[in-house]
Amino acid sequence: MELFELGCVFFSDDLRVNDNLCLTSAARQCKTLVCVYLEARDYLKQRYGIDEGELRKQFRSQSLSALNTELNSLGQHIDRVIVKSTLEIRSFIDEIKPNVIYRSWEPKQFSDDYWEAITGRYPEIDFQEKLSSTLFDESQLPFEEHQFPTTFSKFRRSVEHLFIQHPTVRPTSLPPPLNRAKTWQKEVKSTSNSLFMGGELEGLRHLDNYFMGQHASSYKQTRNALDGWKNSTKFSIWLSNGCLSARQIFDSLRKYERNTGANESTYWIYFELLWREFFQWYAKIHPMALTKFSGTSNRSPMTFFNPQRFKKWCSANTPFPIVNACMSQLNAEGYMSNRGRQIAASCLVNELSLDWRYGAAYFAQNLIDYDFASNWGNWQYIAGVGADPRGGRHFNLSKQTAIYDPHHKFIKRWQGEKCDQELDATDIVDWPIAHR
Ligand SMILES: Cc1cc2nc3c(=O)[nH]c(=O)nc-3n(C[C@H](O)[C@H](O)[C@H](O)COP(=O)(O)OP(=O)(O)OC[C@H]3O[C@@H](n4cnc5c(N)ncnc54)[C@H](O)[C@@H]3O)c2cc1C
Repeated sequence: MELFELGCVFFSDDLRVNDNLCLTSAARQCKTLVCVYLEARDYLKQRYGIDEGELRKQFRSQSLSALNTELNSLGQHIDRVIVKSTLEIRSFIDEIKPNVIYRSWEPKQFSDDYWEAITGRYPEIDFQEKLSSTLFDESQLPFEEHQFPTTFSKFRRSVEHLFIQHPTVRPTSLPPPLNRAKTWQKEVKSTSNSLFMGGELEGLRHLDNYFMGQHASSYKQTRNALDGWKNSTKFSIWLSNGCLSARQIFDSLRKYERNTGANESTYWIYFELLWREFFQWYAKIHPMALTKFSGTSNRSPMTFFNPQRFKKWCSANTPFPIVNACMSQLNAEGYMSNRGRQIAASCLVNELSLDWRYGAAYFAQNLIDYDFASNWGNWQYIAGVGADPRGGRHFNLSKQTAIYDPHHKFIKRWQGEKCDQELDATDIVDWPIAHR
């Protein structure tokens, strides 16, 4: 049933054609279609002065290019890339005059308010926002927004039994593009130094490979390792820009359980996906507090900003070998294990007494799997300003080393011992551009 002459899909962190509700709706409802990629503005560079890492950029550009190839196979293409700013988007809308615009819901980041601005300005356009990053639909949640559970455990107990929709299949065809001749081309940089390759097909291949082996059956015992490709799932890499959806992962997990058997480890993969789910909804409910110094708890930590200390942490040059090894891994691979992230974050807040937001911003600029909700939510948790009933986490670095790297294999691999033994405690200053 075609309803609209011209539709437009705004792609962002949903770079896939499978299980993409915007595309399935556009396929049903539109006569012609324009696909556009909205490129996020680098607020973190503006606000925290940290450059975006090359590996992150590269992964995104590979993913976008792969999406274009998939769209080509459905008779479509990315028409253009637009910076996510109200002005640019308005000028695009004024030029092509779509009747309907689709986008996947995404958490509101920093001063990102283009969606509110355009939905208010063009009453003649049908704006359709689809929820495609979560496991559950909003209508399924057994609580109202103002009753959102204050902790993960309460959240988990109230949702873990809910039905999870099967992922939707890719459309068999899409409405033709407005500009048939126009083909968007992007140069994709070399991938030689990257462990991970962006794109939906790569994500699906990784998902199949992971569940083809037996790793899921021992996930609970291995997930805390600091290193090792199959010790944890690495799904976050392709989840973060939507090359894979959480529902696709859940679907594959259930198939694995049917074929190979369910156990505590397979449940634990679901348990961790629920952590992600918790932070997704948390970000929806607390759109602005997630990046605030005092967090959602409105408690300001007793930390400062000291540029030298921060630089040492970023460049893996603190007096703590385990932390240095984790940071070297992040700098070299664009990835760090969950345990590594907890250790490095706890060190920044507790040993270095630094403002947690700078650590979160550094992760955001360098993690290939950066996800707004999971990153800022986890950082708040560790800094004691978020959804943690225990009020912050201080990891004992010697104990963590003894448990997770008793023979210093990880530290040696990442040269964590080559470090500065002194922390410059002088020169504690507040950073001029951060807003509390
Ligand atoms: C300080 C800090 C910052 C973080 N920043 C991010 C981020 O930017 N992006 C991101 O995806 N995750 C982030 N995490 C969560 C977690 O570290 C990663 O999701 C995980 O390490 C990714 O590796 P994996 O896919 O192998 O995880 P697995 O252990 O295999 O977990 C399976 C999936 O569950 C989800 N998951 C697991 N742990 C968490 C968690 N604590 N919070 C939310 N989701 C979770 C992820 O989607 C993950 O892919 C952060 C954690 C900390 C402590």
